[in-house]
Amino acid sequence: MRAQVGIIGGGPSGLLLSQLLHLRGIDNVVLEKHSRDYVLGRIRAGVLEHSFTEILREAQAGERMDREGQIHDGFFIAHAGVRHRIDLKALTGGKTVMVYGQTELTRDLYEARDRLGGKIIHNAENVQPHAFDTGKPYLTWSEGGQLRRLDCDFIVGCDGYHGVSRQSIPKDKIQTFEKIYPFGWLGVLTRTPPVSPEVLYANHERGFALCSLRSSMLSRYYIQVPLTDSIQDWPDDRFFDELRHRLPGEVAAAMVVGPSIEKSIAPLRSFIAEPMRCGNLFLAGDAAHIVPPTGARGLNTAASDIHYLYHALVDHYTRGDDRGLNEYSRRALARAWKGQRFSWWMTKLLHRFPDDSPYDQRLQQTELEYLFSSQNALASVAENYVGLPF
Ligand SMILES: Cc1cc2nc3c(=O)[nH]c(=O)nc-3n(C[C@H](O)[C@H](O)[C@H](O)COP(=O)(O)OP(=O)(O)OC[C@H]3O[C@@H](n4cnc5c(N)ncnc54)[C@H](O)[C@@H]3O)c2cc1C
Repeated sequence: MRAQVGIIGGGPSGLLLSQLLHLRGIDNVVLEKHSRDYVLGRIRAGVLEHSFTEILREAQAGERMDREGQIHDGFFIAHAGVRHRIDLKALTGGKTVMVYGQTELTRDLYEARDRLGGKIIHNAENVQPHAFDTGKPYLTWSEGGQLRRLDCDFIVGCDGYHGVSRQSIPKDKIQTFEKIYPFGWLGVLTRTPPVSPEVLYANHERGFALCSLRSSMLSRYYIQVPLTDSIQDWPDDRFFDELRHRLPGEVAAAMVVGPSIEKSIAPLRSFIAEPMRCGNLFLAGDAAHIVPPTGARGLNTAASDIHYLYHALVDHYTRGDDRGLNEYSRRALARAWKGQRFSWWMTKLLHRFPDDSPYDQRLQQTELEYLFSSQNALASVAENYVGLPF
């Protein structure tokens, strides 16, 4: 089999790139390790930058998002029992974010690929990139016990943090940077009306909490928990009691509680690999970098990688211009590092770190007080939250 571009991973990054390339006549195949149902069963991001929504429309996958997604003009940070609103729209000269679940967005991308007859191979086992340091890279995988091969011009690794692409790059050709946080997020999804009309982050002495949402009848709540906890330690009653403890009184009192329809614990990690290219293998999205979800940057940074790479590949195929490909890693990393900085800063601002001294805690409190008292500080948070320019 042959295609111009071979894409490893059928998550949001891989599907989006595949769709955009197809619309510009660039032939590509996506190899996904899992089934479509498995990919669509993952509950993850929910806050999309304005620029990402534009890319989805360009990919002809934004129609349902425009119908069902919610545009949010701001979000809240609660501290010491008081809610402070970050007015994104006013602080950024009119920019907003879209609340629309990653699961829905992935479903829309799959349907868009189906409409164009896109080639996605599910349950591809043992996918391996080969010869990407030559002009003739290829991919192999097993399908129903048979070894298959795809020859291509470029391989794009969109296979997430645990994928094979980054791990295939020789150790002396890649440098990684990592920070592991000493806690995780316990997340619960419920079919209940969200307690807060806008996303609410809470800094509390018992730990961080987040009230997020996917729609007017689907709430996503999180609390910070020790890494030693498991979901069996957190039956619904205990989860909601703890969540209410960490929220301002009037918010806790208004909460509608319902049975969890999904519950999971996500460890928090910052990670970035550079460069994001090795020969004719390019990395994009979580394959190259991940962040703690506190600043809602992960999926949005994946989208900016795809934006840079898509335009670079179009320039290569339509004009023979390789400047975009040569500049891809530098441009994508420059933005990804800013996402790392913001996510780290939000995480440090809002969580309880077990090893923090009283001095560290007073600094955190002062940082929050400064933020709520300074229009410049608020504007900086808002600018990062709506997404820095591509
Ligand atoms: C709890 C949580 C909350 C989050 N909240 C937000 C948020 O609010 N905003 C935000 O922007 N981001 C958020 N994120 C991050 C966001 O979900 C990720 O950044 C996003 O999924 C990245 O997409 P991706 O396609 O690059 O990688 P993935 O979604 O990880 O997709 C990779 C795909 O590759 C496949 N794959 C893996 N290995 C192989 C292989 N060897 N061969 C073939 N296929 C393979 C996988 O099955 C998967 O389908 C959150 C993440 C978590 C965990």
